Amino acid sequence: MRIEHLYFHFPFCAIICPYCGFYVTIGKRKDIALLTEALIREVEILKDYYSLDPKTVYIGGGTPSLAKSEEIKQLLSILRKENLQELTIEANPRTITEQKAAEWKEVGVNRVSVGAQSMNEQDLLILGRRHKPKDVVDSVYLLRKAGIENINLDFIFGIPGQDLQSLKQSLQMALDLAPKHISLYCLTYEENTPFFKALQEGKFRRDEQKEIEMMYEASDLLTKHGFIHYEISNFALPGYKSLHNQAYWQGKDYLGIGPSACSTVGTKRWKNVADHSLYVKAVKEGQLAIAEMESLDGESKNKEKIFLGLRTNQGVALSYFGQKEREVIQWLVFEGLGRIVGERFVLTRRGLLVADSIALYFMN
Ligand code: SF4
Repeated sequence: MRIEHLYFHFPFCAIICPYCGFYVTIGKRKDIALLTEALIREVEILKDYYSLDPKTVYIGGGTPSLAKSEEIKQLLSILRKENLQELTIEANPRTITEQKAAEWKEVGVNRVSVGAQSMNEQDLLILGRRHKPKDVVDSVYLLRKAGIENINLDFIFGIPGQDLQSLKQSLQMALDLAPKHISLYCLTYEENTPFFKALQEGKFRRDEQKEIEMMYEASDLLTKHGFIHYEISNFALPGYKSLHNQAYWQGKDYLGIGPSACSTVGTKRWKNVADHSLYVKAVKEGQLAIAEMESLDGESKNKEKIFLGLRTNQGVALSYFGQKEREVIQWLVFEGLGRIVGERFVLTRRGLLVADSIALYFMN
């Protein structure tokens, strides 16, 4: 079976941000080297089962920009490149140097996703980030100097203490840097994080109404500057939508490589063990490090397609909906939350802001 989309999970970071809910750990140099070898080994094992012919490769984390360029090069050297269109690496602004950017370009990286999060110093302090807004500016400059034009800036909104004005200022500063893509995520309070504890103790407070207003205003600002709001949290200039993420949202098969990475192929979905030492040990012994496996039946795949499709500006083909669901669609159209475009049901901008709540109507 041919696989066109690969994700590599690099679980190491220099510090752990107090809101982070991913499987990440502080990375020591030795661990990074061992992990790189293990990722290569896992690819080799997977090649016995699948024909890997990637159109998109995404190296995410964690902070993969902590790895040496040589390690990224080794990792990429075992992949076919004939049909590769998009090769993204996620980067922390403080880890990007002139040399690293040039070496990434040389090994074929053509898209960099920079974890800016905010251009406001106070927001960055609250988020426990070590970088300053100036590091984001410098990163963009260095990437562009190296010839990498396709730059995404990741932002968070709903940060404690952040108001609408400061979010708009942050985004305006981002726009001044002329990125091709902006991702904008609402801060979530993941269990077992210091932020979750602070929320429970009443030190932080969520204001969902304010969050909706922030997203609405942000969407307004970015679309006015030519960005297409093509997924609930993603904005791109024409021609710069993320091919890799679109593959997820369209329900395509993908392999996730690395500790805690998730894969979906046909009706099977599995997740690797969320422990880098156990992961390295298993693949070194020639085994896949799968911790959980589930079978997806036709109905659950259908529901997932609806859930993911509703979050995008492509919507969902009407053929996915039964009679009962079409009545819900009529009501959503009447309420101005959705519209029919050709043979598809698409949420309006107002609907998109509450896409997850709307999806619940179709999930039962
Ligand atoms: S840099 Fe990103 S992945 Fe690493 S701890 Fe912070 S939020 Fe999590």
